[in-house]
Amino acid sequence: MAKIKHTFVCQSCGVTSAKWVGRCNSCGDWNTFVEEVVSSKDTKNNASISSIGHVEARPFRLSEISIKESDRLDTNNGELNRVLGGGFVPGGITLLGGEPGIGKSTLVLQVALSLNDKKVLYVSGEESLQQLKLRALRINKENENCVFLSETSMEKILFHVEKEKPDLLIIDSIQTVVTEHLETAAGSVGQIRECANLILKTVKPLQTPTLLIGHINKEGSLAGPKILEHIVDTVLQFEGDRNHLFRILRSSKNRFGSTSELGIFEMEQTGLREVINPSELLLSNHDMQLSGTSISCVQDGMRSFMIEVQALVSSAAYGTPQRSSTGFDIRRLNMLLAVLEKRAGFRLMAKDVFLNIAGGIKIQDPAMDLGVITSILSSNFDLAIDTRCCFAGEVGLTGEIRPVNRIEQRIIEADKLGFRRIYLAVSNPSKLKNIKAQIEVCNVRRIDQLVKALFAG
Ligand SMILES: [Zn+2]
Repeated sequence: MAKIKHTFVCQSCGVTSAKWVGRCNSCGDWNTFVEEVVSSKDTKNNASISSIGHVEARPFRLSEISIKESDRLDTNNGELNRVLGGGFVPGGITLLGGEPGIGKSTLVLQVALSLNDKKVLYVSGEESLQQLKLRALRINKENENCVFLSETSMEKILFHVEKEKPDLLIIDSIQTVVTEHLETAAGSVGQIRECANLILKTVKPLQTPTLLIGHINKEGSLAGPKILEHIVDTVLQFEGDRNHLFRILRSSKNRFGSTSELGIFEMEQTGLREVINPSELLLSNHDMQLSGTSISCVQDGMRSFMIEVQALVSSAAYGTPQRSSTGFDIRRLNMLLAVLEKRAGFRLMAKDVFLNIAGGIKIQDPAMDLGVITSILSSNFDLAIDTRCCFAGEVGLTGEIRPVNRIEQRIIEADKLGFRRIYLAVSNPSKLKNIKAQIEVCNVRRIDQLVKALFAG
C-alpha cells in the first residue's frame, strides 16, 4: 500500500512547501499555495534522466562523439524543420505553446498526416475522434499509419505508447491529461509536472520523439508552469492574431538547435501553408502611392523580410488624443511620438495616431522604429513615400538613428526584392563596400536629416 504524502505547491512558480503559506517565498505571489497529494512512489529526480537516452555512461572524447543528423525525424514541413533545427530528435520532447484557437492542433495534425511512412500516435484529450476526423477532412490529407486515441489518463496513454511504439507521439494537450498519482484537477501545476515526468520516463528509453501541445494563459506564458519548460528539450511558440492570416513559429528553447530560426505560416481553408518568401505577402500594393505607409526591412531571427507599416494621423476629436497600435508595442509608439514632438518639433500630441503592421504579426526588431516614424510623418504631411524605398533603424531618445544588426543581410534582401533605396544608419560605411547590390544606401543619422531627405522640396 503506497503511503500518501501531502505537499503544498505554489500555482505560480511550482515551489513546494510542507506547510501552507500565504505568500510564496520564491515568487512573492499571494494565496497561490494549493494542497496536492503525492503518493510515496519516488517521482523526484526524473528530470535528470539523460536526454541522450541509451548512451553508455562513460566519459567520451570529442572525436568519439558522432552527430547523426539522419537520426532526426523529418517533419515534411520546411518551416517546422527550420525552427526545430532539422526535424524531431529521437527521444526529444517538444512543447508547442500558443493561445487557444490559433491553429496549434491544425499544424500538428497536418504534420501527423503528412508523415506517410511513419507511425504516429495522436492522443487527444481536447477533441473527440469525430472532431479529429472532421479536422482531418478539412486538411484533406490521409495517413493510414497515423492512429488516434481519445484519452486523458496518463497511465492508459503510456500503456498504448509502449504497445504501439510510434515513431512520433503527439499529446494534445498537456493541460488535459491526468495521472492517478495525484488527486488534483487536470491542468494544475502538480498534474502537469507529474504527467510530463511520466512521459519523459517512457519516451526516453523508447527514443520516441514527442510533441506536447500547451495552452498559453492570458499573461502570455505557458499556462501552469515554467516547470514544463525545464523538463522538455524544445519549447516552440506559435504566435499570431486569430483575426489575421499569418502565424509565426519560433523557439524559445532548443537543446538540439538554434533558437534564432523563425517559421512563417499562412492560415488557409485547408490548413496552414508554409510561407517561403514572406516579403511578397506582407507588402500590399506596390503600384499605389498612398500617404501613411512605409516599408520596414526587418530581421527576425535569421530571416530578413519586408513588412508594411501603416499610420493614420488625424486631429484629435476629443480632449485626449487616441493612440492605437496593432502589431507594435504601444509604449514604444508613445516613446517615438514623444521623440518626434521634442526632437523634430511636430505637434503630434494634439493628434490621434493609429498604427498598423501588415498581417497582424508581432516583430521584435528595434529596426522597425524608422519605418514607424516615417509612416507617421508621411500621414501627418499627407505626402506619400516612394514604395521602392525601405527603412531600417532604431530611434533613440535624443532623435538619433542608430545602426541595427545584420545590415548587410537587410541590404541584400531589399536589393533582391527590387527596392531602389534603403534608409538606415551606418556606423562604418567602409564595411558595406563589399556588397554587390544595385540599391542605393542612404545613411541617415538623425530624424531631421530623414525629414529633409524624404519630405523637403
Ligand atoms: Zn511561487
